[in-house]
Amino acid sequence: MKKYSRLFKILSIFTFLIAFGGISSANQSGLKIPDQVTGDLAYDHVYYLSEVIGARTAGSAEEEYTADYILEQLEGMGYAVEVQEFEYERRGTIYSSQNIIAIKPGKIDQTVIIGAHYDSVSERSCDDGNILTGAGDNASGVAVMLEAAEVLKDYKTHGKIIFVAFGAEEVGLKGSIYYAEQMTEKDIENTVAMINLDSVGVGDHFNVYAGIDNPGWARDLALKIGQRMGHDLRTSPGEPSCEFLEWGEAGDWSDHVAFRHLDIPIAYFEMMNWEIEPCAGEETEEYGWVMHTCMDNLSMVSHEKLEMTAEVVAALAFQISKTKLPKSDKGKVAKGNKFISIQKRY
Ligand SMILES: [Zn+2]
Repeated sequence: MKKYSRLFKILSIFTFLIAFGGISSANQSGLKIPDQVTGDLAYDHVYYLSEVIGARTAGSAEEEYTADYILEQLEGMGYAVEVQEFEYERRGTIYSSQNIIAIKPGKIDQTVIIGAHYDSVSERSCDDGNILTGAGDNASGVAVMLEAAEVLKDYKTHGKIIFVAFGAEEVGLKGSIYYAEQMTEKDIENTVAMINLDSVGVGDHFNVYAGIDNPGWARDLALKIGQRMGHDLRTSPGEPSCEFLEWGEAGDWSDHVAFRHLDIPIAYFEMMNWEIEPCAGEETEEYGWVMHTCMDNLSMVSHEKLEMTAEVVAALAFQISKTKLPKSDKGKVAKGNKFISIQKRY
């Protein structure tokens, strides 16, 4: 029972923070975050990454150029930025890529990671003139991360926020796996949540998931924050419509995987329609899958979707990093969705 009383204590801290916006001045409460997020910055970044740079295939000059662009953006906001270079082998060839890491320091070591991959699949075109530029997958995720970084830079938090733009996701989650491999025992212990942003500009519905067999509280807090903001924020359906995934989980298809293997709670945001396909989702009812097709370009990306994702992501990262979590409970307590009870949609 002791465990539960502690649980309720954490729950009430979060409830307090969400309801009253924190403890200090209005500026630092987080209440302004939804107003400060406009989606304009995110949209501009999607424009630049997809229309100016274009497809950003892992191992290409465009991928490297994109890394430089992200580095410049984060440095311009005043963050200390680190380039984490790595190599990987693919079909007998060695390629190099890099993760771009910006750190917002906190008073304590408790850490939230916000990550998004910046590479795309290779350019492909169709007879109708459409060309894949990776605007949805995943210029959108990087762009939302950059707008969240811009908004959060002036907020004081207890905990650290680490922004990571991952390279080489489309060739086997290389950047995120390398990042997770470099984490020390201490880093892992200090990391209370990983927020993954992958394809948040195109699909039909706004979703957030945990990973498979993964503590669910970061997802549940995200659902709560999103729903309080008035967004129709959803998650995956689980049984009975799908027997392979539990309610609220996503499969091992994005950069959250390496972190869920470390038992770090995940909140993975994606625009997706799970009503069409309850075990994997399908991106849109009208066009089917857009990602990895010639339709994935700027014309498909919704400013409003970028904005709503950035609002929830910034508020979620702020709430978690504003709250000191009991060390021993970080991963454990969250198991079984007991952290915050959410009404299930399905
Ligand atoms: Zn992706």
